Amino acid sequence: MQSLQLVQLSADVFTVCLQHALATEREEIMGLLIGEVDDESTVVSIAASLILRRSDKKPDRVEISEEQLVSATIFAEDLAYKTGKPLRVVGWYHSHPHITVWPSHVDLDTQAMYQQMDSSFVGLIFAVFLTEQSTKAHEVQVTCFQSVETSSSRSRIEIPLVIVQPQNALLSTCFETLIQLPKIFDEEENETFSKETGGIEGDFLTEQHNEAVRTIALGHIAEKMTRPMMEVLAERNQYSKTRLQMLRNYHKFLMGKLEECGLLL
Ligand SMILES: [Zn+2]
Repeated sequence: MQSLQLVQLSADVFTVCLQHALATEREEIMGLLIGEVDDESTVVSIAASLILRRSDKKPDRVEISEEQLVSATIFAEDLAYKTGKPLRVVGWYHSHPHITVWPSHVDLDTQAMYQQMDSSFVGLIFAVFLTEQSTKAHEVQVTCFQSVETSSSRSRIEIPLVIVQPQNALLSTCFETLIQLPKIFDEEENETFSKETGGIEGDFLTEQHNEAVRTIALGHIAEKMTRPMMEVLAERNQYSKTRLQMLRNYHKFLMGKLEECGLLL
């Protein structure tokens, strides 16, 4: 029996997930979604997200460790306390670079496992780096799914997904998650570097080579991820300032009207 009818995704969370998915076209990325479920368990509202580091980078391997689930739960509880809303982990997302948006058998099995613990748990997939055949334009596809068991097999059911206005209370949380992205990628590069160089001693050329590879990788992150992100945030800041000014003017106008009517003491 399917009771879930709609998933509402905050526009800010959508931006963060998409940025994360576009961060690498070599491997799948993943994260957890935080939000609330209505009393009838028919609508899930996603208000924040958490980026997960992948320990296993094999394709189509999207396992979330128990430690990650526990820290996500603590993160959600913290947000719930701050906002006074019943927030919890309500789903997970991952990317499909260069492949179709539909969940694989592994995805359906993973999803089914989560649904056993929480029947309203949802899965989001961001298919990125796709090329639209006729126009050759870059395309992104998103699906929201749950697993269903039929007598012979396991299949997917699509849940309608709408992108909604973000909640102001969680705005800074979404931005904090976003700016973690380059940090996480830097950490991964540094970790790979120490793994590769650990135990090797004295070989000057190898050392120089590994240093150079790391420098190129970090430069790539700064150029392809950090810089565009900063530009977007600077624009967003400008937009917010303009909007703030407009609202101030409007406030002044309304106060003037009140005064004219003699309603202001
Ligand atoms: Zn997948």
